[in-house]
Amino acid sequence: MANWDDIKTSGDVEDRRGTGPAVALAGGGGLIALLITIGLNFLGLNVPQSTVQDILSTFQTLSPGTAQQAEQPAEFRGEDSYEVFTTKVLGSTNEVWNDVFARNNLTYQQPRLVLFRQATRSGCGVATTKVGPHFCPEDGTIYLDETFFDELKNRFGGDTGEVAQAYVIAHEVGHNVQSQLGVFNSPNAQTQEGMVALELQADCYAGVWAYTQARNGIFENGEINQALSAAAAVGDDHVQRTETGTTNPETWTHGSSEQRVNAFTRGYQTGQPSQCVDLGS
Ligand SMILES: [Zn+2]
Repeated sequence: MANWDDIKTSGDVEDRRGTGPAVALAGGGGLIALLITIGLNFLGLNVPQSTVQDILSTFQTLSPGTAQQAEQPAEFRGEDSYEVFTTKVLGSTNEVWNDVFARNNLTYQQPRLVLFRQATRSGCGVATTKVGPHFCPEDGTIYLDETFFDELKNRFGGDTGEVAQAYVIAHEVGHNVQSQLGVFNSPNAQTQEGMVALELQADCYAGVWAYTQARNGIFENGEINQALSAAAAVGDDHVQRTETGTTNPETWTHGSSEQRVNAFTRGYQTGQPSQCVDLGS
């Protein structure tokens, strides 16, 4: 098992698990503001069309009693091991990026991370489980429903060990880095090619994080393979083949399995964010 206890810093994690989506959504936004920053979710699933439906059905399946639930049920109260895990992992990413930014005379804005179930309000509209782990640039926050990892394992056969899960968080943190460097604002970021490049760069940034953790002795022997397995499982070609039986590179948003593994590996081997460019070929 990875030695997360050796990480001395903590990230800013808010636990909203178990509070009903209706409560989490109360106070405005409403169902019209369903704009999710699609490009920043973890899988290349076809989210835009399904999002509205998903949220509506989430509401419909809630009994009035659940919808009123404001306080967390006992299982989520206090700091459980998953919350501690995410706090440590986020803290370790803060250390890495604080250093990188400081070396470049910049100040790193540390992201927040919200744990939720089903749906919750975000600065980008509504975060749902279906979207998968994602980063919202509007509020600098990562949204994570850990039941996503059951889906990753059951549908796509990816490794869902702790190091794989930490890689997913580090990937979303990579989007926070990009957000601060202003890369989302470039016209190229809106193109399909640009989107894939951003996702591969986030994988490479996750590799940079892993490089430092490996040197700090956080991983046990071979545990890095969990991250590589997860990266391969969420490649667009693999996701599409699993979902539809075919692949169509013109609709890819995150890059193939091979590209994602290569991108992560580049960061992991060099530890240099400056190497995280030109990853698409
Ligand atoms: Zn991403």
